[in-house]
Amino acid sequence: MRFSKTIRRVGTATILAATMGGASLAAEVADRVFTGGVVWTGNSDSADAEAIAVKDGRILAVGCDADMSAFIGPDTVTILLDGHFVVPGMIDNHVHFEMGSVGLTQVQLRDAATPEEFSRRIGAAAKGMPEGAWVLEGSWDHELWGGTLPDRKWIDGLTGDVPVAVSRLDGHMILANSAALKLAGVTDDTPDPAGGVIVRDEDGRATGVLKDNAMALVVGAVPPLSDQGMEEIFKGGMAHAVSHGVTQVHDMGYDWRSLETFRRLREKDEMSIRVYAFTPLDDWETLADYVAENGRGDEWIRWGGLKGFVDGSLGSTTAWFYEPYADAPETSGFPIADMAVLEGDVLGAAEAGLHVTVHAIGYQANDKLLDAFERVQDKVARDDLRFRIEHAQHLTADAIPRFAELGVIASMHPYHLIDDGRWAEKRLGKERLKGTYAIGSVMRAGAHVTFGSDWSVAPLEPLQGIYAAVTRRTTDGKNPQGWIPDEKISVLEALKAYTQENAYAGYQEDKLGRLNAGYLADFVVLSDNLFEIDPVAIKDVRVLRTVIGGEDHYLGK
Ligand SMILES: [Zn+2]
Repeated sequence: MRFSKTIRRVGTATILAATMGGASLAAEVADRVFTGGVVWTGNSDSADAEAIAVKDGRILAVGCDADMSAFIGPDTVTILLDGHFVVPGMIDNHVHFEMGSVGLTQVQLRDAATPEEFSRRIGAAAKGMPEGAWVLEGSWDHELWGGTLPDRKWIDGLTGDVPVAVSRLDGHMILANSAALKLAGVTDDTPDPAGGVIVRDEDGRATGVLKDNAMALVVGAVPPLSDQGMEEIFKGGMAHAVSHGVTQVHDMGYDWRSLETFRRLREKDEMSIRVYAFTPLDDWETLADYVAENGRGDEWIRWGGLKGFVDGSLGSTTAWFYEPYADAPETSGFPIADMAVLEGDVLGAAEAGLHVTVHAIGYQANDKLLDAFERVQDKVARDDLRFRIEHAQHLTADAIPRFAELGVIASMHPYHLIDDGRWAEKRLGKERLKGTYAIGSVMRAGAHVTFGSDWSVAPLEPLQGIYAAVTRRTTDGKNPQGWIPDEKISVLEALKAYTQENAYAGYQEDKLGRLNAGYLADFVVLSDNLFEIDPVAIKDVRVLRTVIGGEDHYLGK
C-alpha cells in the first residue's frame, strides 16, 4: 500500500489530520514538501488543504501542514508557501504555439491605436530586419482606430524591400506590403481563392489585406525557419507560458511543424510545459498512420487530436451567420470548409480512434457542426469521442442545450469577449447579441466547458481569462457591470474550466486537473486567494511559482 486511502481522497471538507497515524507507517519520503499555503485541490468549492508532498514528479499527499511530517525524510526539501494560494496547473485548451512564439520576437501592434502608430512600428521593425527576413505576426486591431482596414500604401514607403505580412489579432486577416505581394506573386488580378478574400479598393487595386484562405497566398512565400530556429523560438514560448502559470497547452497546429518541433525538444529533454498537439483534420489519415507507428506520445508531448474549421471570425466578418452583418450587409459570413467533406473527415477520424475538434464561431457554423457531430456519433460506436467545438462563440437558443445532450465539449475563450465586446454590437445588432459568449448558459445546461486563450489572438494568461469570464468587463472600460452580464460565471467555475475540465478535454482527468495523491505534480502558486479578492483585482494577481512534474519551471516575485 502506497498511501492510506484517506489521503488519496483529500477533499470534501475534511482535511486528513485524524488519519495520519496509519499513513505514516506506509508513507514514502517526499522529494519536496510545500507547506503553509492555501490550497484548492479542485475537489471542493473552496480552498481545502495547506500542503503538498511530491515525489518523482507526482503528488504523494495533499493535506494540512501537520500531516506532512510523515513524508519528510533527511533529504526532503521543505518549501514555505507563506499563505499564498495554490491551484492545480492551468491548462490552456487552444493556442497557436508557433504563431504566438514567433510573435514574441516580432513587432508588437496589439495596442497601436492609430494608423500612424501602426505604420511607424512596422517601419521601425523593418529597419531592424536581417536580409531576407519578414516582418510577421504583430496582432493588430483596426477597431482601435474606428474599424478602417489598413492598406499597404500606409507602410510601403516605410518598409521598402523588406517583406511584411502582419496579422490581425484574430489571425484571420493579414496586411501584406507590396514587397510581400510581389514575392508571393499576388497582383490586383489574382482571383479570390475559395474561402478567402483579397480585399480590393474601389479601383480594383489589392490593398494588401487578405482574409482567411487568401492569407496562404502570401504566408506560403515566407521562408520557413530552420529546425533549430523553431526550437529556439519554442523555448521562448514555453518560458512565456510558465511565467503565466500555464503548465500545459493544447496546440492547434496549422501543420505538422509544431508537433515535430516539440518532439525534437522532448528528445533533448528540453520541454518545459506539457503539450497536447493537434494536427489538421483534413490530414487525419496521415495522423492515423502516425499513431499506428509512433503511439500517442508521453506525459510531455502527446498527439492524436485533429483540428478543423467551419468558418472564420467575427472580427474579419467571416464568421458564418444566418443573416447579414449589420455593418457589412453584403455578407453573412460563409463556411470555409465544404461541410460534406468536413463531416466525412470527422467520421473517418472518429472511426480511426482519433480525437476531433472543430472551430465554429457564427450561429450557423455552430448549428451545422452540431448536426454533423450528431450524425457521426450515431454512426460510430465509441463512448469516448469527446468532440469539441473551438470557440462556440455565437449560439442559438437551440444550440445551447445540445452541447450537454450530445456530450460535445464547449472549448471557449473568455478573453475574446472583453475584447470583441467593444464593437460586436455594431457588427451583429442588439438582438443577435443573445447567445454571444454564452458561457454561463452553456455551463448551466450541464455541458463540459473548457477555457483557453487562443494565443496569440489573446494573451497566454489564464488569470486574464478568469477575470474576463467572471467580470465580463470590456477592455475599453465601458461595461463595468459586465457585457451581457447574465452570462457571468463564478471564480470556481472559471478555475474548473482551466483545470479539471481541460484535463477532461484532453483525456487526462485521471492524472491532471486536480491535486490528488498519485496525480502528476503540476500546480501554480498565486499571490492572492482568487476566492476571496474582488474579482476585478484578479487581473493583477501575480504568478509566484509554476511547478510541473514536481519541479519549479518558473519562480516569480
Ligand atoms: Zn485559434
